[in-house]
Amino acid sequence: MGAPGSGKGTQAQRLEKQFGIPQISTGDILRKHLAEGTSLGLRAKEIMASGGYVDDETMLAIIRERLSQPDAAKGFILDGFPRTVAQAEGLSKLLTELGTPLDAVVLFEVDTEQLVKRVSGRRTCEFCKKVFNVNFAPPGGECVPGRTEHSLVQRPDDREDTFKERLRKYEEDTRRPVSRYYAYTGLMRTVDADGEIDAITQRLLDTLKAGSGAVAAPKKKRAPQRRAKPAAKSRARKVVRRTVRKVAKKTAPKRKVKRKVARKPARRARPTRTRRKSKR
Ligand code: AMP
Repeated sequence: MGAPGSGKGTQAQRLEKQFGIPQISTGDILRKHLAEGTSLGLRAKEIMASGGYVDDETMLAIIRERLSQPDAAKGFILDGFPRTVAQAEGLSKLLTELGTPLDAVVLFEVDTEQLVKRVSGRRTCEFCKKVFNVNFAPPGGECVPGRTEHSLVQRPDDREDTFKERLRKYEEDTRRPVSRYYAYTGLMRTVDADGEIDAITQRLLDTLKAGSGAVAAPKKKRAPQRRAKPAAKSRARKVVRRTVRKVAKKTAPKRKVKRKVARKPARRARPTRTRRKSKR
C-alpha cells in the first residue's frame, strides 16, 4: 500500500528479484488491458484517466484469475491491491480458499511534497517500458534491441489534476480504512519511503524480517537504525499503535477482581495530652 509515487512498484520489483516470486501490479494489469483494447481496458480507461478506482468486483476477479496462474503458487507480491476495504475482505476470503495467507501488509509513507516531485518527473519508455524520473533517475541504459535511445512518455494519470484526485482517493479509500482493516491482523508494517531507493529497500527487508507470520514478532535487539523524520511519523502509525493496544487490552486474560472491602478507618489514637509546663 502506498500513495501514487510512493515507490511501491519499484520496491515490489526488487522483492520479486530477491525472492523469486511475481510482483502482481493491478495498475500494470489494467494498463495492459488498455493497450490491448479489451472490453475491460475500454471500461477502465476513463476511470483511470480521472484518478478514480475500478470497481471492486472487477478487481477481485482480476486477482482471482492472476493468483490461479502457476507462477503464483510459491508466493506473490501484491502491488496496488487491495485498495478498498471491500477488496481487502474479498482477498481474505480468496486467500483462505487458496490456503495462502498473507505474511505482511506494507504501508509506504512519503511526504506529500516529495510525492509531487516524484510523480511530476516520472516517465516511461514506450518501447522497453522502463520507468525513469527526470528529477531523480534520468534515463539511461539499454532500450530494446535496435534502439539507442529511450522514448519517454508521461502517464496520463500522472498529470497534476489527476494526480491530486488519485492522492485524495488514496487517503480516503485506501490509507486510513485499509490500514485499519489490517491493523487488527498484526500484519501491518510501515516503511518510511522517503530517501534513497537502496536505503528504502533495506528498511523494507528489515521490516519484513523483523516480523513475519500472523502476529507481529516481539521487538528484537537490532543495530541502531536511522531515526525516522518526524514528518514521516504518520497518523496511520498512530492508528495502528492505538488499535494494537486496544486489541491487546481486549484479548488480555481477565484478572479476578478482588472485591474491595471497605475498611473502617483506623481510629486515630488520641493525642496524649502533655501538660504545658507552666512558664512560671
Ligand atoms: P497504479 O499503477 O497502481 O497507480 O494504478 C493506476 C490506476 O489503476 C489507479 O489510479 C486506478 O484507477 C486503477 N487501479 C489499480 N489498482 C486498482 C485497484 N486495486 N482498485 C481499483 N482501481 C485500481
